[in-house]
Amino acid sequence: MSAASLNTLPEAVRALARADFGEVAARFQEAGFSVGLPAKGILSVKSAVSDPARASVLLSVGVHGDETGPIEMAAYALDALARAPGELAVDLMLCVGSIDAIAVGKRFIDADLNRMFRLQRGDLAGTFEAGRADTIIAATRDFFEGSGPRRWHLDLHTAIRGSRYPKFAIVPQLIADAARAELIAWLGLAGIEAVIMNPASAGTYSYWSAEQHGAAASTVELGRIGTLGQNDLSQFSDAADALAGLLRGVPQSAGKAPLVFDTAQSITKRSDNFRMSFGRETENFTPLKKGETIATDGDTVYTVQHDEECVVFPNPDVRVGLRAGIMVVRVK
Ligand SMILES: [Zn+2]
Repeated sequence: MSAASLNTLPEAVRALARADFGEVAARFQEAGFSVGLPAKGILSVKSAVSDPARASVLLSVGVHGDETGPIEMAAYALDALARAPGELAVDLMLCVGSIDAIAVGKRFIDADLNRMFRLQRGDLAGTFEAGRADTIIAATRDFFEGSGPRRWHLDLHTAIRGSRYPKFAIVPQLIADAARAELIAWLGLAGIEAVIMNPASAGTYSYWSAEQHGAAASTVELGRIGTLGQNDLSQFSDAADALAGLLRGVPQSAGKAPLVFDTAQSITKRSDNFRMSFGRETENFTPLKKGETIATDGDTVYTVQHDEECVVFPNPDVRVGLRAGIMVVRVK
């Protein structure tokens, strides 16, 4: 994205896209909050008096630099709160993930940031995003350290490809039952139609927060990808309302319960011989029947084991060693 196009954006969006928190930080500070700017693109706003009953909410956007809709949504949410700071009822950290990729209108600089949240990075270790992930990991630890047990992490994305359920979320299975139920109820309120329970990390930011910090965390896909400043924000209106309520501690009414899917298989690309039976343009939640071939990788053949499995995030072009897709089965 050129600097000229950034200049035409509404001020709140332009500021967030440039990691400029100056004005909102000043407003929260004047209202008596403890404000932190631990790194470029990261803002924390905490109550000056620590209260273990206060929820801690981490909101991340732009982990993929080209997914601009949630950046706009977060910018307006933050701007509204900064104008009425007394309404903020939680400790908040806002993380704009791939701030450098956003500046150039790209998904990432070297590699997918949302695969870096793992202890062993292999050949991803030297990438630009590995350094950014280290910065984010440190800020996330500082934010949750010493906070009360009510911890949330909403990592907001938009999808590249079409989807039978345009709004869906990935939820780490390891989240404790009560917190997970509360999270899924909020996701329903936010207009999420389907939830995928994920048993193992693929190196994502939300899984990291759940595993390392006990947060009720989710990777949330809010709709279709668009250009910064030109997103159809109406597709995010339920999510924006649900987020506004969460940040203000408003008791949330029940939304429509999302469908629940379990992960049946995670398909990992083991070699350059990996071939998928379908391309990366395949719609998310496209169903396959028992026995159908999902992918081959040299002598290894991945086939559908259940009567029906649906494919999510198919991408044969990932690096060797990374997840090339998930097969899910509806359970609820
Ligand atoms: Zn994404």
